[in-house]
Amino acid sequence: MKRTIAVLPGDGIGSEVMAEALRVLKFIAAKFGHEFETKEGTVGGAAFEKFGSHLPSETLELCSASDAILFGSVGGPINEMHKPKWIDCERNSILALRKHFRFAINLRPARIYPDMIGISPLKASVIKKGVDIVIVRELLGDAYFGKHNSFERDGKRVATDESEYTEDQVKTAAHAAFKTARQRSKHLTSVDKANVLTTSRLWRQVVHEVAQDYKDVEVSDMLVDNCAMQLILDPGQFDVIVTSNMFGDILSDAAAALPGSLGLMASASLTEAGFGLYEPPGGSAQDIAGKGIANPIAQILSTALMLRHSFALTAEADAIEAAVESALRAGYRTGDIYDQSEKQDGKRLVGTTEMADAILHELENHCAVKKKEKGSLATV
Ligand code: NAD
Repeated sequence: MKRTIAVLPGDGIGSEVMAEALRVLKFIAAKFGHEFETKEGTVGGAAFEKFGSHLPSETLELCSASDAILFGSVGGPINEMHKPKWIDCERNSILALRKHFRFAINLRPARIYPDMIGISPLKASVIKKGVDIVIVRELLGDAYFGKHNSFERDGKRVATDESEYTEDQVKTAAHAAFKTARQRSKHLTSVDKANVLTTSRLWRQVVHEVAQDYKDVEVSDMLVDNCAMQLILDPGQFDVIVTSNMFGDILSDAAAALPGSLGLMASASLTEAGFGLYEPPGGSAQDIAGKGIANPIAQILSTALMLRHSFALTAEADAIEAAVESALRAGYRTGDIYDQSEKQDGKRLVGTTEMADAILHELENHCAVKKKEKGSLATV
């Protein structure tokens, strides 16, 4: 397969973790016989310095001409937010990209690896054998895109945010969620507030209509307040969750806390046609930038999501995800996921590059085993 990828490392740890993700991508291309042409563009503060804009037209054109976007992170240190380079940096770059391409869906996996239970804020008894959830969030509807109004009534300030959903928006999210569930354990939880909101009633109705096309997937409904509670009390009950824009915004951040570090999380934003932007949901982590200690796993897993969702390269994505899990099982830990109490168990505190080295080593082993089993990687 031949594909062009726009690579936007951005600011802070962006370029450090992106460099490691590209090493993994290069390995996959060589092993599986693909040609991935990566073209780098500037975004965020890095772009502002060069072009006086957080999202220069050159970068936008590069993205439009590519098959997918691999994004790092943008933004400056909290104490420098007043400087022109950083003012509205996130809004002018990543939010502008999302708006420009009209990404309709956000996929946010949240996984607690069995070997990483110790760093989750939840008790081991709650996590049991690990947690593996994908949240599918609708991105174009809800109060975010409705009319916003503030006015005075009877001498008091009033504010309104209009929330709207069309059946097509719900259908797009539902199809993406059912397809994701079909590739996993075939269980989908649709989250809404249908006991109160009209938009939620439409949401529930349309999700069940779409369910008729996916009879092999079991679907159940849950109210958002209960879902927030269940994510903490018993996250293992969930596989794929589909929900509206605002509920998804909040629930995906709640789920992001479960694995114990932003450095383990990946995310994908997809258009209806499958064009995607892949990025770690965390920021530029300016507190650790330039020190070579950032966790590259989030960026590497975002690359795996790109292979899976934009290029339909399932075996390649599976291989990367398995290699990450094996490297963690083998005891490699960057600072954000290093639990002092594990020192005695032979866990190794490593930097960004060493962590990627460990993942590449496991990837090599994984590919060798698969090749032996099947005779050729192309048939995996
Ligand atoms: P952050 O997500 O950058 O960092 C929060 C904490 O998580 C920090 O302690 C950081 O060291 C840690 N962390 C994050 N990713 C890590 C990784 N890969 N490895 C190890 N540790 C990691 O949030 P913040 O510090 O509030 O924001 C810093 C900048 O990032 C701000 O300018 C903010 O606006 C921006 N931001 C950008 C995005 C984006 O690009 N999508 C998202 C969130 C924040």
